[in-house]
Amino acid sequence: MSITDNIKRLKSEMDGINVTLVAVSKTKPVEDIQTAYDAGLRAFGENQVQELVEKYEQLPKDIEWHLIGHLQTNKVKYIAPFISMIQSVDSLKVLQEINKHALKHNRIIDCLLEVYIADEETKFGLGFDEVIELVRSEEFAALKNVRIRGLMGIATNTDNEKQIKEEFYELDSFFDGLSQSYFKNDDDFDTLSMGMSSDYKIAIEQGSTMIRVGSTIFGERVIKHWKNN
Ligand SMILES: *Cc1c(COP(=O)(O)O)cnc(C)c1O
Repeated sequence: MSITDNIKRLKSEMDGINVTLVAVSKTKPVEDIQTAYDAGLRAFGENQVQELVEKYEQLPKDIEWHLIGHLQTNKVKYIAPFISMIQSVDSLKVLQEINKHALKHNRIIDCLLEVYIADEETKFGLGFDEVIELVRSEEFAALKNVRIRGLMGIATNTDNEKQIKEEFYELDSFFDGLSQSYFKNDDDFDTLSMGMSSDYKIAIEQGSTMIRVGSTIFGERVIKHWKNN
């Protein structure tokens, strides 16, 4: 199936469902992103800053770029001028750095707090308790150039659908809890990013408002270094 066909099928599956699709284009060449763009997609996700910046420079400027991979504080400056959303905020320190560079560019940058829900040791993210500690802190209250739009989570990479469902259920419940407490008067706290190619259907059933889909659109990722494709 071609990229265009994959997008058509995905769009028809999502017809009538109010969920934002972010096409995850990491490792894929700019030609593939242009094809997806021509098929109507505008939101693309990348997990590495350098790759994201180089693609940004080559592609149409109305693309909304999402960073979905771990962000080091020393790299914030490269994406601050144009990034649409940083989905992978996993510390107060990086949030403060994003705020600093957003201020420099006279912008407010949309962010999601990445929450650790998987039963795996390698994944980045905050624990539920760490999220609460962060949003209650005075340091957080002082940040005026970041807007917390919601949460992002990655389920365990497993065939066990029950486990995936439980992880998404927990994240959705936590999201609802925050919406009704710390973000009660904040209409911008409206995004729950969960679900990828293997589990987006389960994620949507569990309340996802944004899915991040890569291989279902672009095909399997076989090559890690996108420039050598
Ligand atoms: C790679 C990636 C995705 C997309 O994965 P697919 O299985 O290709 O859909 C989604 N979210 C994050 C955080 C990723 O790193």
